[in-house]
Amino acid sequence: MKYRTIDDLDFNGKRVVMRADFNVPIKNRIISDDTRILGTIPTIRKLLAKGASQVVLMSHLGRPDGKVVEELRLDPVAEKLAEILGFNVPKLNDCIDVDIPKSAKVVLLENLRFHREEEENNELFAKSLSKYGDYFVQDAFGTCHRAHASTDSITTFIPSCAGLLLEKELTIMGKALENPDRPFVAILGGAKVSDKINVINNLVKKVDKLLLGGAMMFTFYKAQGWEVGKSLYEPDKVALAKLILNNEKIVLPLDVVIADRKEAGANTKTVDNFNMPPDWYGLDIGPKTVEQFKVALNGSKTVIWNGPLGMFEIPEFAKGTNEIATYLSKLNATTIVGGGDSDAAIRKLKLENKITHLSTGGGASLEFMEGKVLPGVRALELNLKKFSKL
Ligand code: AMP
Repeated sequence: MKYRTIDDLDFNGKRVVMRADFNVPIKNRIISDDTRILGTIPTIRKLLAKGASQVVLMSHLGRPDGKVVEELRLDPVAEKLAEILGFNVPKLNDCIDVDIPKSAKVVLLENLRFHREEEENNELFAKSLSKYGDYFVQDAFGTCHRAHASTDSITTFIPSCAGLLLEKELTIMGKALENPDRPFVAILGGAKVSDKINVINNLVKKVDKLLLGGAMMFTFYKAQGWEVGKSLYEPDKVALAKLILNNEKIVLPLDVVIADRKEAGANTKTVDNFNMPPDWYGLDIGPKTVEQFKVALNGSKTVIWNGPLGMFEIPEFAKGTNEIATYLSKLNATTIVGGGDSDAAIRKLKLENKITHLSTGGGASLEFMEGKVLPGVRALELNLKKFSKL
């Protein structure tokens, strides 16, 4: 099924209500990472350039669970938007039953999740939100895996379309999953197999190679019958890992950086995969594995990476993640990094401009890689059916 994009609607003289993902880290009113805000600016500018009379922005921030939480007000976001756009962006004190100043080109509603009806996908609440626009634009990729009032129900009331950011996310990741330039390699790391089992099962069908690192590699080591010491692993997933290992596309790390403690300053050693001592922690891939992964990645045309390859928050165990991130940045390939921790690793190394696409959605990009149709996208598809004639 298809959904509309901004080019499919005539915005001239129309009011737009737009869902953005302004769920950014804020402390003492300071935004420490404004990537998600910057990501929506092209959509806002394009809507205004197409003659929209007003853009009413809405978002959630954090988990206030249906109550007003002062620290989770969106004022710093409105200030940042005004700074970037170069004009005042009023922030309203609530998201429903508010008078929108007619003269403002762009306004921001208060945190949607101050009302529990948002997460309950409440129809009346969604209907109130829909009154702010003639059209609804969905640009919050990071929230599209949730069926909430502002991502799902609202699309039953007014004609809707995807914003530029959502379209970009879906197009780049969609091509990788449906029609990738090959060789296509995926790298999966992070803490738990259980979080990524559906991603592994879906990707293994599509890729030419699947490289596994992070703590989840130890569940696969166990499946091989190797010692993992005190490393993090999931005993109840060992049988599943055994099954997955039947696929020859899976590449398991050759060596491991181990430590006597999970802390900076711990004693460390590197050992081969079959040779881990019983009382140490495996905390990073070793140098042989870095070479093994580089060989596997060499010449690839599409790469998807999700999850750090070690406990990268501690510098001693960040080397594998950093080396592979740097190698990715030099590849002549479409490189896609799923949101969350791998994204943070890329930014720490200031490589964000050397990666084709850094996803703005952690959970949403994982669900997309599982092969699921995201509820927020499904809602846009159904909206096109419902409002097929305009
Ligand atoms: P995830 O959210 O599943 O991508 O997991 C990210 C977390 O996995 C990060 O906080 C890493 O520190 C952690 N991690 C990666 N490798 C290891 C490891 N070998 N041992 C413990 N934690 C790890």
